[in-house]
Amino acid sequence: MGARAERGGADAPRRTHRQPASCSRCGGELIASHIMTQDDAAGRPIHLQMCSSCDAEKPAAGALLRWFATDGGRDSSRAEEGVRLLLEWTKAGMAEHGW
Ligand SMILES: [Zn+2]
Repeated sequence: MGARAERGGADAPRRTHRQPASCSRCGGELIASHIMTQDDAAGRPIHLQMCSSCDAEKPAAGALLRWFATDGGRDSSRAEEGVRLLLEWTKAGMAEHGW
């Protein structure tokens, strides 16, 4: 019953990213970033990023960016709208990863 060496196998540690401040595409500042519990095709945790430069043209991200830009995040009467937009953005982002 010796110790088994399992170095370099499939259990190599995952790289973990916590709320990176910059966009992985353009290096700009992120508005929001979420690490999902689901993995992408390469087995890495899906990391959704919202960047005002890269994502403004995307319908769901653009709508959420406009909500933030018009102070939706500070207006409790618009919270429901924000939640709906956030869900749409999450769904669109996950769809890009095949979910
Ligand atoms: Zn960007």
